[in-house]
Amino acid sequence: MADRRRSVAENVAGDFFVDETCIDCDTCRQLAPAVFADAEDYSFVYEQPKNAETRRSAFRALLSCPTGSIGTLNPACAREAKADFPMPLEGGVYYCGFNSPKSFGGNSYFVARPEGNWLIDSPKFLPHLVERFQSLGGISHIFLTHRDDVADAGKYAVRFAGRRIIHRKELSAQPSAEQVIDGSDPVQLAPGFLAIPTPGHTRGHMCLLLDDRYLFTGDHLWWSRTLQSLNAGRDVCWYSWEEQARSMSALARYSFEWVLPGHGERINQPAERMQTEIRELLARMRP
Ligand code: SF4
Repeated sequence: MADRRRSVAENVAGDFFVDETCIDCDTCRQLAPAVFADAEDYSFVYEQPKNAETRRSAFRALLSCPTGSIGTLNPACAREAKADFPMPLEGGVYYCGFNSPKSFGGNSYFVARPEGNWLIDSPKFLPHLVERFQSLGGISHIFLTHRDDVADAGKYAVRFAGRRIIHRKELSAQPSAEQVIDGSDPVQLAPGFLAIPTPGHTRGHMCLLLDDRYLFTGDHLWWSRTLQSLNAGRDVCWYSWEEQARSMSALARYSFEWVLPGHGERINQPAERMQTEIRELLARMRP
C-alpha cells in the first residue's frame, strides 16, 4: 500500500501519487503514459488524470505496480479496473497485468487457444487472475523465457496442471519444470508455437514465436520509447553481449509483427519494419 507521507517530490498535487518504494520497472509508464513519467530512477505523477479514460489507465497501473508504490485518494475505484485484466491485445493474446516483484515487475502474457491456453512468464498468483484464467479455459502450458521472470509460475502450474517449459540452462530457477529444452536449435512445441533459444541476457534465454506474428521476447528485445525503435540493453545483459548479438542476428530469420517483452514497451508494426529495426539494432550492438 503506497504511503502518501513517502510521496516522491516530483508528483503533481492531486489524487494519484507514487511513493519512494518505486523500483523503476516502467509498468505504470507503459499503461498510463499520460499520467506517469520517468524521474531517472523512479516514476512520478506528472499529470493527474483529466478524463475517465486516463483515470482508468492510472488505476490499471496502480493494480499492476509490482511494489504497491502507486496510491490514490479513491482506492475503492481500483476494483472496477480489475475487470480489465487479463487485457486483450489481439488474436487471443492478452497482457496479464498484476506484475510481480519477483520478476522485477516483468510483463507476462496469456494466449487463448482451443487446444489449450498458454501463459508466457508469470504474473502474481492472485484469486482474480486464477478465476479469469479458469473462465477462459485454464492453462495447459507455461512458457518461461528465462530465470528472472518465473515469478509464481509454479503456483499456476499446480493450480491448472500446466506444463512448464524452460531451457536447461535456466532450470535451477524452476527445477520441477515438466519440459526442458536443450541446445540452441528452435523447437516446435505445438502447432504455431516455436521456442527459439536466444542466449545472451542469460545463458538459456528463449523467445517464443506464435503464428509467425507474435514474438514473446522476455528480456532479449523490446521497444524503446526514447529511441522509437527496437532495442536491447548491455547494462542488463547478465551473461554475454556477444551471444546476445548472435541471437539477435538469428532472430532476423523470422517474421513477426508484435514484440511482447518482459521488460520494456510492446510494439506492433509491419514485419518488414521489424526486420529493418533488427538490422539497425545489430549494427548498434556490434563493436
Ligand atoms: S509500476 Fe510501480 S514500481 Fe513500476 S515504475 Fe511505476 S510506480 Fe515504480
